[in-house]
Amino acid sequence: MIGVLGGTFDPIHLGHMQIAEQVQLRLSLDEVHFLPCAIPVHRDLPQISDTNRTQMIELAIAGNSNFRLNTLELDRGGNSYMVDTLRELRLANQSDTINLILGADAFNRFLDWRCPDAILQLAHLVVCRRPGVELDKSIYADHWVNSTQVLESQAEACILPLEIDENHCSSTQVRQLLLEQNCAASCLPPAVFKYILSNHLYEQSQ
Ligand code: ATP
Repeated sequence: MIGVLGGTFDPIHLGHMQIAEQVQLRLSLDEVHFLPCAIPVHRDLPQISDTNRTQMIELAIAGNSNFRLNTLELDRGGNSYMVDTLRELRLANQSDTINLILGADAFNRFLDWRCPDAILQLAHLVVCRRPGVELDKSIYADHWVNSTQVLESQAEACILPLEIDENHCSSTQVRQLLLEQNCAASCLPPAVFKYILSNHLYEQSQ
């Protein structure tokens, strides 16, 4: 089974690392793909270049042999629709079950995504807690399951809420701290923090 963590990663932070690590362990995933979007559909453009975003992902995941950077959306370019991405991933991983990893904030907007029905025909969703966000379990209510074993026995279309530790980090908070010249080290992998400082990222407001 593989996991897919899509996001803007502007920048990658310890909240991303924590959900990837805990979901990988709880589901015994062979790989977790970190998938930075090209043009996000429901939010502002990233503040930094694709190169800077991907380099920081590489630095953050360097110590974990189960983690991969996947540039499929950047290579495709244009608006990043998850349904297109999952179709490509499905072709490349015919026999692998795909688990799309989401924070509760992202899941609660799932019905606004392009072709949510089709997404559920391509992958399971694994939804992680996010501080201050109440998970909306009325969305696709009949797809919810409560055990990790079900994800192994079904090929797709299950939604699993995973009780993992909450993490307060967000990219918005990191960018704000850096803009105000406050230390953001507590939310960043050390190598990412160093990269941001040496490349003077997020020092100016957009
Ligand atoms: P921003 O603050 O700019 O909105 P973000 O911190 O939410 O960014 P994204 O790259 O947009 O980061 O998030 C990618 C995915 O990771 C989403 O599914 C999001 O819900 C999830 N995620 C990010 N941070 C956390 C966190 N601290 N806890 C749980 N899930 C998270």
